[in-house]
Amino acid sequence: KEAVIQPTEPVEKVVTYKPTIYVHVERSKEIQAARLKLPILGEEQVIMETINENSIIILTGETGSGKTTQVPQFLYEAGYAEKKLIGITEPRRVAAISMSKRVATEMNLGTDVVSYLIRFEGNVTNKTKIKFMTDGVLLKELENDFTLTKYSVIILDEAHERSVYTDILVGLLSRIVLLREKRNDPLKLIIMSATLRVEDFTKNKKLFKNVPPVLSVETRQFPVTIHFNKHTFDNYEEEAYKKAVKIHRKLPEGGILIFLTGQHEVNNLVRKLRKAFPYHRTDETNTEKTKESSDAHYSDSEDGDEMDMKKAIQNSKKAKKKLRSMLSLPQISLDNYKLPTDDTDADLLDDSSIKDDDSDSDSEEEDNLSFVDLKSSQPMWVLPLYSLLPSDKQSRVFEKPPEGARLCVVSTNVAETSLTIPNIKYVIDSGRVKTRLYDKVTGVSSFVVTFTSKAGANQRAGRAGRTAPGYCYRLYSSAVYENEFDDITVPDIQKKPVDDLMLQMKCMGIDKVINFPFPSPPDLVQLQTAEYKLKLLGALEAVESSKSDKLTKVTPLGQAISAFPVAPRFGKMLALSHQQSLLPYTVCMVAALSVQEVLIEVSQEQTNEKKSKWLPTRIKWAGAGNSLLLGDPFVLLRAVGESEYAGSEGKLKEFCETNGLRPKAVAEIRKLRVQLTNEINLSLNDVGLCVDPKMVPPTDHQAKLLRQILLAGMGDQVAKKISDDEMKDSDDRQRFKYGYRSPEMEEPVFMHASSVLRKSKPEWVIYQEIFETDLKNGASKKMCMRGVTAIEPEWLLIYVRSMCNIRSVKEDPPPRYNESDGKVYCHVEATFGRSGWQLPLSEI
Ligand code: ADP
Ligand code: MG
Repeated sequence: KEAVIQPTEPVEKVVTYKPTIYVHVERSKEIQAARLKLPILGEEQVIMETINENSIIILTGETGSGKTTQVPQFLYEAGYAEKKLIGITEPRRVAAISMSKRVATEMNLGTDVVSYLIRFEGNVTNKTKIKFMTDGVLLKELENDFTLTKYSVIILDEAHERSVYTDILVGLLSRIVLLREKRNDPLKLIIMSATLRVEDFTKNKKLFKNVPPVLSVETRQFPVTIHFNKHTFDNYEEEAYKKAVKIHRKLPEGGILIFLTGQHEVNNLVRKLRKAFPYHRTDETNTEKTKESSDAHYSDSEDGDEMDMKKAIQNSKKAKKKLRSMLSLPQISLDNYKLPTDDTDADLLDDSSIKDDDSDSDSEEEDNLSFVDLKSSQPMWVLPLYSLLPSDKQSRVFEKPPEGARLCVVSTNVAETSLTIPNIKYVIDSGRVKTRLYDKVTGVSSFVVTFTSKAGANQRAGRAGRTAPGYCYRLYSSAVYENEFDDITVPDIQKKPVDDLMLQMKCMGIDKVINFPFPSPPDLVQLQTAEYKLKLLGALEAVESSKSDKLTKVTPLGQAISAFPVAPRFGKMLALSHQQSLLPYTVCMVAALSVQEVLIEVSQEQTNEKKSKWLPTRIKWAGAGNSLLLGDPFVLLRAVGESEYAGSEGKLKEFCETNGLRPKAVAEIRKLRVQLTNEINLSLNDVGLCVDPKMVPPTDHQAKLLRQILLAGMGDQVAKKISDDEMKDSDDRQRFKYGYRSPEMEEPVFMHASSVLRKSKPEWVIYQEIFETDLKNGASKKMCMRGVTAIEPEWLLIYVRSMCNIRSVKEDPPPRYNESDGKVYCHVEATFGRSGWQLPLSEI
C-alpha cells in the first residue's frame, strides 16, 4: 500500500495594487531567475495590498514557498524601510543568521544593510534597514522601547513553532499595533507560519478583536509516497544508516534528507556515511572531526544551547558581579536574559491521504545491507546540518553537489521548516525530536528524545515533494504513528512551568499576566497560585494601583531569581548562594533534588542487614549526629560529593552499593550539575563558578548558611512539632505523638522513615514534600514529610519575612544602631504563618 499527499493547484489572484513608492533593487540575473520560481512571487501584489490596507495580517504558506526570504524584500521595495526598520523575528538563531545573509545576497546589499542580531552576536549598523533577529532579542528591546518606535513593520516568522517568546510577542504586539495606530504612526504586524493551523490566532477574541486577514500562498506540492517500517526500533540511528545505504545503492538519483535529533547523532551518521561512500575530499572530514572533539563535553545538551555557553564564558571577563551581601539581598540586579528557545517543532501538512504501508524495510536483505560490497557505489556528498554548524558550512546544503555524487543531508529538525534544502527526493524520518522536559519540583530542564507529532512527521515528509514526486521512509510503524504521536506539538507556553512563566513575564514588565492575551493561555488558576507563591517568596510585591485589583510587580530579588534556569524557589536559593560563594553546593542539591530516587529507601518493613547498614552513614553525612541538624538534603549533597571520589566506574558502583545509592541517579545528577552550571554561567555572565566534581564537605559555618538558604526557598514548607499543650487527652497523645503541624495541612504530619532527623526530631523544620504513606498492614494512612532540614525560628523573620506578622516592637532592649551597615535594629514580637505561631523575640 502506498500513501500519497495530493498536490494542490496554485490559485490565481487578481492584481489590483500598484506600489506608490518603489525602491529599486539591483539583483543578479541568476537570483532573479531563482526568485521567479518561488510561488510567493506571483502573490506580491496581493500580499502588499493586504499589508497596506490592514495593520495585522497572517500569511501562511508551505515551507520553501519564499515567505522568509521574499516578504522582507517586498516591504523594502514598497518603501517600508525608508524611515524605519523592517524587523523579522525567528525562533531559531540559525534561521536569523542564514536568512539575513541570503536576503542580503539576493538584494545585492551589504550585511550592514540587511543584518541580524542574536544574543551575543550580530552585524547591525546604523545603516541597517532589514533586521533579522531571534524572538528573544525583540522581547528584550521591548523592555526599553515599548512601542517599538524604530520599526515600521514587525514580521513574526515561524509562528507555528509556538515558541514561548513568539507567543508572548503575538500578545504584546496585538496591543502595540493599536497604540501606534492611535499615535498616527502605524506599525504593521505580519504573522507568518508554515501551516494553515492559524485558529489559535484567529479564533481568539481576546487576542484580536477584528480577525486579521489570512493570506495563504498556494504551493505546488508533488505527491510524496510514505513508507512505514513494520517495527519501531530504538536504534533509529542505525536504521537510518541502513536505509540511506539502501536508497543510495538501489534508487534513482535525487537528494536524501535524514532527520535525527541532535548534533552528536548528526555528526556520527555523517562520518559513517562518508566512510561507506567516500568522496575524494581534501581536508574537510578532518576539520569537522577536530571541531567536534572540542565540543565533546558540551554535547549532552541540545544543539541550541552550546555556543551560547562558550560565548558567555568568553564574554564574561568583561562582566562584573553586581551582587551584594546576603542580608541586603533585595539590591541584586542581574541581567535577566533568558536562554533562547530550542529546536522544537509543530507543523501541519494534510495527512488525510496517508495510508498504512508495510514496506519490506526489515526483511533479511535489509538487515544484511551493512555488509554488502560498497566499493562499486557512486560517491555520496554527505553534509551535516544543525543550529550550531558554522554558517559557511550550513550554506553548503544549498549548493549543488559535485558532479556524479548524490547529496545527502543529515539534519536535526532545523530542516523541517526553517531551512529549505533544494532537490530532496528521499526523506528518512527517525520520527524523533529532542524536547525540553521540566522537573515538576525543581524546574530543572533536561532534553529528552521523544516522538515528534503527526504534524511534524508530515512536514518532514513534505520536504521530499518540493521539486518532483518523492518518497518518505519512516523508521517507525504506522501503529506507533497512529497511537503514540500527538496530532500537533503542544505550544511551549503550555509546557513551561507556570511560576517560571509568571516571573519571566513580570520581569519583562508585563504586570497583568493573568489578563494577558495569550494565543493559547496557560491554566489561569495555576497562574494565580503562581503569583501568590511568588509573592511569598519575595519575588513579586503588591503595588498600589488606581483600580481595585491588586497588581504585583517584580522585585529586585525576583529579577535575580529569574536569572536562574530553575523553579523560582530554587532560583532564590541559587541567588542567595551566589552571594555566599556557596553555589556549587546549592547547584548540587538542586540537581540531586531533580532526580528521582537517588537514595534507595530504608523503610520500616525493609530492615534487612544491608539496608540498616546505610542509615548510620546517612546520619553521619547529614551531620545529624552533632548539633548541626543538617538533615536530608545534606545526605544527598554528601552522597554526590563522596561519589566523585570513588574513582573508577567499578569503584563507583561498589560505592553506590555500599551506601544504598542508585548508580544511574548519581550519573544523572552529575550531568545535571554540569548543565546547570553552564546555564548559570551564561545567565550570570560570570566565570567565577565552575563545577569541580570533587567538592569538599561544607564547613559548619557553610552548613548553617546552607540551611538558611534552604529555608529562604522553602518558607512555605515549614512545620513545627506539636507541643504538649495541644494534646488534651491520651487519645490526642496517641494521635499526635511525634507529629508536626504544617500551616498548609489540617492533619498532623510525620517524619518519614527515611529521614535522618527521625530520631532527633527538631522543634522547627522545613520539608521538601509531603505525601501520603501507603501502609500495607492495614494501619491508617499518614501524611509524611520527606527531605527534612532543621531550622531556627529566629531565621524566619529574616528569610521568610512575607509570612511573618510583627505584633510589636520592643522598647527594651532598646533599638541599636549598627555602624557597619548604617541600619537600626530592634527586637520584635512576631508570629509566623496563618496559624500564628509565636516566634522568639528576635532582632531585626
Ligand atoms: P519559507 O520561508 O516560505 O519556508 P524561504 O524564503 O526560507 O521559504 O525559502 C525560499 C527559497 O530560498 C527556498 O527554495 C530555499 O531553498 C532558498 N534559499 C534559502 N536560503 C538559501 C541560500 N542560502 N542559498 C540558496 N538558496 C536559498
Ligand atoms: Mg521561512
